[in-house]
Amino acid sequence: MTPSNPSQGPHHARPAWVEVDLDALASNLRTIRADLPARVRMMQVVKDEAYGTGSVTVAWLAVANGVDAFATFTVGEAARLREAGITAPILLLGERTPDEFGWLVRHRLEVCVGSIDIAGALNAFAERSGTRIPVHLKVNSGMNRFGLPWRSVSDWAPVLAGLRHLEFAGALTHFAQSDELDKTFARLQLGRFEGTVAALRSHGIHPACLHACNSGGCLDLPEAHHDMVRIGILPLGVYPSSVCRRLEGLRPVMSVKARITGLQWLEPGDTVGYGMRYRAETPRRIAVLPLGYGDGFPRVRNEGVALLQGRRVPIVGGVSMDAVTVDVTDLPEVRLGEEAVLMGRQGSEEITAHDVATLKRSVSYDILTGWRSRLPRVYRGGGL
Ligand SMILES: *Cc1c(COP(=O)(O)O)cnc(C)c1O
Repeated sequence: MTPSNPSQGPHHARPAWVEVDLDALASNLRTIRADLPARVRMMQVVKDEAYGTGSVTVAWLAVANGVDAFATFTVGEAARLREAGITAPILLLGERTPDEFGWLVRHRLEVCVGSIDIAGALNAFAERSGTRIPVHLKVNSGMNRFGLPWRSVSDWAPVLAGLRHLEFAGALTHFAQSDELDKTFARLQLGRFEGTVAALRSHGIHPACLHACNSGGCLDLPEAHHDMVRIGILPLGVYPSSVCRRLEGLRPVMSVKARITGLQWLEPGDTVGYGMRYRAETPRRIAVLPLGYGDGFPRVRNEGVALLQGRRVPIVGGVSMDAVTVDVTDLPEVRLGEEAVLMGRQGSEEITAHDVATLKRSVSYDILTGWRSRLPRVYRGGGL
C-alpha cells in the first residue's frame, strides 16, 4: 500500500531521483517504539516535507506504525496533512502571528506559545470564535530561540493562568545539545524545565503532556522522556550525531540515485568541466550523472565519490548545476543507463548523509532537507 501523495505533484520521470524506502521507515518506527517505555508517546516531526522524504506519505505510514502525533513548523505544512486525511494531533512548532490564528481553529491544530503577547492575542481570538485553543507552553530553558524564559516564570505564569480560552494541552522545552557525550547542559535545561513546570502547577496551570526530547534526547536522556518524545531525524534512520546511542537494525530511509547519461573518453591533457579543474594525466573514461548543485548536491570539485557497480568512483572536475562527473576508468563494464548512488548503499558500499555533510561542511539535517524538489521522490516498499 503506497498512499498517493498529492504533495509531490505529478511524477515526471527523470534519470535522477530521491528514493524513500517505506519498509525501512516502518521498521525504524517500530524499533524506536519498542525501545521506548510504553507510556511514552511518539510525536514525529515532519517539518519541511519530513526532512525531504514527503510528509504526507511518511505521515500515513507513521500512523500505522506507532506514531501518536505530528509536529510541523508552518501552518501550510500542517494543512497539507489535514487535507490528506491525517486526523492525529498536529503541533505547530515555533511562534505564530495573529493572521494565522483562523487556520489553527479550521484545521484543529495545537500550537506552541512562547510569548505572553501572543498568548493574550490567541486567548482573545479563541473567545471571539467561541472556542478554546489547545496550546503547549514553550519554556526557554537555555536554547534562547523560542519560548517563555524559565527565570521569570513567576511573572508570566499568573498572566497565563487568567487566560480562560486557552487549553493547556502541554509544556515543552528544546535541548541545545542532546546528542553529544557531555550531557551537562542538557541536564541543566531539564532541571530548569521541570522547575518551571512545578511553578506552573503552583499557579494552577497543569499542562497535560510534558515533552522535551528530540532524537538525541530520545536516545540518550531517558530521564527526560516525560510523556512524549519529538523525533524527526531518527525515524529516517539517520543519527543526530556520531556519538549518540545506536539502535540495532535502524536503516537509512533516503537515498539519492541517478542513471549514467553520458560517457567521455579523455586523452592525456584533456580537462573536465567549468574552470578546467581536472586534467587527465593518462587516458581516462568519465561518466556523467545528470544531477548537480541545482538538485542540492554540494558544489565540490575533485572531491567526494559516487557508487557504481558496488565500487566507489571519484568525482572529478567541478560539480555543475545539472551534472556530476565521475572517473570510471577502473570499471570498463560501465554502460549508459547504469544506476549510480550518490547517497545510500550499493552492494557492500555506502555513502551516508554524514559523508555528504562532510563534503558540504554541514550537518546531515541540512543534507536530507537540501535535496531539491526537482528531484522526484520515488517510494519503494509498502511499509509493511
Ligand atoms: C526539529 C525539531 C525536533 C526534531 O529534532 P530531531 O533532532 O530531528 O529529532 C524536535 N523539537 C523541535 C522543537 C524541533 O524544532
